[in-house]
Amino acid sequence: MKSVEDFNLIKESARCLRCSRPGCVSSCPVGNDIPSFLQLARQGDARGAVQLIGHPFGEICGYVCPHESQCQGGCVLARRGRPVLTGEVERRLFADNPYLVTVRGDAAANTSVAVVGGGVSGLTFAVKMYEQGADVTVFEKDELLSTLRLIPEFRLPRAAIDRVVDCVEDKFRFVRRRVDSELLRRIADDYDVVYLASGASRCYGLNIQGEDFATPYSDFLNKNGAFLNGDGDLRGKKVIVIGGGNTAMDCARSARRLGARTAVAYRRRREDMPAFDKEVSAAVSEGAEFVYNVAPVSVSRVGHGLELTLAETECEGRGKLTVTERVRTEQCDVIVTALGSTFDDSIVEGLDDLTGSEKFFIGGDADGGKTVARAVADAMRVARIVSEKTCGK
Ligand code: SF4
Repeated sequence: MKSVEDFNLIKESARCLRCSRPGCVSSCPVGNDIPSFLQLARQGDARGAVQLIGHPFGEICGYVCPHESQCQGGCVLARRGRPVLTGEVERRLFADNPYLVTVRGDAAANTSVAVVGGGVSGLTFAVKMYEQGADVTVFEKDELLSTLRLIPEFRLPRAAIDRVVDCVEDKFRFVRRRVDSELLRRIADDYDVVYLASGASRCYGLNIQGEDFATPYSDFLNKNGAFLNGDGDLRGKKVIVIGGGNTAMDCARSARRLGARTAVAYRRRREDMPAFDKEVSAAVSEGAEFVYNVAPVSVSRVGHGLELTLAETECEGRGKLTVTERVRTEQCDVIVTALGSTFDDSIVEGLDDLTGSEKFFIGGDADGGKTVARAVADAMRVARIVSEKTCGK
């Protein structure tokens, strides 16, 4: 495969065969019209190609989506050895030509829309409703796209995130408040449509003795910026990351870059890990070690370090998992937990009448862990439903 430096966007786009039944489109969670996108790119119409995609996250998808199992995995040319590198084309076009958010219709005119959550899905929905003429308010207590900002710079440059924020920040009204169930009720009273995309904000814990000695991934990755800026480092230290997803790989690679000996402890087999293959490979090539079929049992402080007790596990693929009595201990300095996160459902507690109503929609990570493309797809789907409903209102 050609190196990224050799990449010629127009030549790559011209490789597309414009298939009559394009596998790239059916494999894209958003259903992007990839053949038309590539044709516009080949013709040098970068602006047209970007606007055709219809949302501002093309560059970010280009960086973090698993193209090999989405658009590129479905490309007919993958069977001949090299798919059209749609993700790379998308990433480069969007970086140079950020999406323009403009009003394009009036299907949702006179409709007030509240979006709870300034993440990928929330902002995509806000953009689509604004484009349909709606009056949009986004409720977000943190910085916009704060979850994306936990992805280390080496995987997702901050500039790409900032370009999205630049596209949207003067288009909506932003309310910097944490939304709880009481406020959600009031929002529902005041707005015609509510889209809840508050993300998966509740981190899973270890639920073992000594858990407080471990560092949650969000703290580790947040502090990582300070470490990388020279405020600290992990040289000579040993870090154990517990988990098997992309975030665990981010933590492991960050720890390696900070100079630590690093091991990833995962409770199942290599092939059961939820992390994308390319992320696991990157962690391996950067020197992280992996220990499979182990589950944490306890953490204790020993001198200045930590002792992690692990039990061997037996699993049937991603099915039944048995934790055995066979244990071992590992000495280390930092334990990072990256066990995933889930929707904080306290926000909808006691609101069954609202969540069952026609004005209420839920999407993004609040509706189950998602890739960027799937979070975008949720928002686009709901925006279509709302536009159809409000049309002719
Ligand atoms: S499957 Fe590949 S070759 Fe066919 S239209 Fe899609 S990108 Fe082009």
